[in-house]
Amino acid sequence: MNYVGRFAPSPSGLLHFGSLIAALGSYFQAKAHDGQWLMRIEDLDPPREMPGASTAILKTLEQFGLEWDGAVMYQSQRHEHYQAQIDTWLNRHQAYCCQCTRKQIKADGGFYLGHCRHSKLLPTPGLSIRLFMQNPVESFTDLHQGNITIPSALAHEDFIIKRRDGYFAYNLAVVIDDIEQGVTEVVRGADLIEPTGRQISLYQTLGQTPVSYLHLPLAMDENGKKFSKQNHAKPIKTTQAKPTLMRAMEFLGFDLPKDFLSSSIEDMLQWGIKNWCIQQLPTKNHIIV
Ligand code: GLU
Ligand code: ZN
Repeated sequence: MNYVGRFAPSPSGLLHFGSLIAALGSYFQAKAHDGQWLMRIEDLDPPREMPGASTAILKTLEQFGLEWDGAVMYQSQRHEHYQAQIDTWLNRHQAYCCQCTRKQIKADGGFYLGHCRHSKLLPTPGLSIRLFMQNPVESFTDLHQGNITIPSALAHEDFIIKRRDGYFAYNLAVVIDDIEQGVTEVVRGADLIEPTGRQISLYQTLGQTPVSYLHLPLAMDENGKKFSKQNHAKPIKTTQAKPTLMRAMEFLGFDLPKDFLSSSIEDMLQWGIKNWCIQQLPTKNHIIV
C-alpha cells in the first residue's frame, strides 16, 4: 500500500513552533516512506478563524521548503459532503438531534448520557446532532506512544457531529476528509490523542479501515505550557527559517551534524528524510524547548 500522509492546520492563527513540529513530523514520516504529503486547511470554524491565516500558513510552509503534493483541500468547501453523511445517518436513525445544554450535561456529571436519543426532534437551527455510539473504541495502539486507553464514559458517549451553532464537528470532518484524500497514516501532536478513539469509531461506522496514528510529543514553552494558539504562541519568524528548522529537528530527536546550518533548507530537509526514525523521537510527551 502506498503511504499517504497529511498536514491539516486550522487557520485560527499563524504557524507556531508546535504546528511546525507537526508539519515536519508528518512530512518526514511521509517522505521517508516514499509517500505523498497532502495539505488540508481545516477552516471549519469561521468565528475562530484569523483573517489571512490560511494563506500565511501555506506561505510559511513554503519558506521552510515544505512542498505538499497535489491541491490543497479546504474544509470550508466540503460542507455538502459532511451534510450528506449526516443526512444518511439521520435517515437510518443512526444520528439524532439533541437540545441538551452544556449546563445540563455538566449537571449529569460532565458526560452526555443519551438524554435525547429517542426524542425524535427534527433538525432545527439551535439543535446539535449526535451520532449513536455503535462502535465504542476504548483503546488503540499509537506508533510512538504505544497502547492508549480511553476513559470508558468518553468512549461510549454519543458525540456531536454537528454543533448547535450549525458548524460541523472536527471529528466528523477530519475522518470524512482523510478518507476522501486516501490518507493512510495520521501524524500530529499528542494534544489530539483524546479524540482519536472517536475518530477510529467513525471509520468503523463508515465501514472503512482506520488509518494508523503517530502522535508526536508536544513542545512546551518555558512555563510548561504547550505551544498553541490558545496560549498565544508566537508565530514563527520566516526570516530565521534555518535556525528554527534546526531547533525543530533537534526537538524531533535528530542528532544533527555540526555544520548543519551551512546547508541549504532543501539539503537540511533531505538529510532529515534520510535520517528520520521514529525510535529517536523523545519518549516524554512534554518537553521544554
Ligand atoms: N486541524 C487540527 C489542528 O490544527 C489538526 C487536525 C488533525 O491533524 O487531525 O489542531
Ligand atoms: Zn440532548
